[in-house]
Amino acid sequence: MGAPFTMKPLPYAEDALSPVINAQTIGFHYGKHHTTYLNTLNKLLENDPLKDSSLEEIIKATAGSSEAAKKTIFNNAAQVWNHDFYWQCLKPNGGGKPTGRIADMIKDAFGDYDKFKADFAQTCVTQFGSGWGWLCLEGGKLTLRKTANAENPLHMDGVKPLLTIDVWEHAYYLDYQNRRPDHVNAVIDKLLNWEFAEKNLG
Ligand code: FE
Repeated sequence: MGAPFTMKPLPYAEDALSPVINAQTIGFHYGKHHTTYLNTLNKLLENDPLKDSSLEEIIKATAGSSEAAKKTIFNNAAQVWNHDFYWQCLKPNGGGKPTGRIADMIKDAFGDYDKFKADFAQTCVTQFGSGWGWLCLEGGKLTLRKTANAENPLHMDGVKPLLTIDVWEHAYYLDYQNRRPDHVNAVIDKLLNWEFAEKNLG
């Protein structure tokens, strides 16, 4: 439950998302970036009263703090949670139009799938600098949000994250360089794990 936290295994092989996201990107992203957030968090918690709390509790306890030490804990804890969540949002041969409950909710909130896709891509592309694009559930309706750096909807009242796309450059630079829109559209078309989103509806 509490620290030290351990890396959750990737839900697929490092090369399983190729050619949209290649093994080298996953190797760095999971093996270096994500792992570094986790190791840094464990180190920060060694002598901290939050060390026995769950990741979610740590995020909620430190979100919005003006204290430098708490901000640093928040950043690393949220990035561990965000990446654990993100890996599950992707799957080989995923993406495209969903079916079932989510499909009806997309129709409800966006009119049709194409409008949803354009809006989600735009949300991800217009996050200035590092951050995340999110599909969320708010008041029974699908919404889109973007957050900067480590921020996430987890501690926002009444906002439930369903899917996310990492738009930090480390997520796409080796495969797409500066072409974030191409990366985002390829993820939406070919990798989104709609079963995971459906499960998150609860
Ligand atoms: Fe990342």
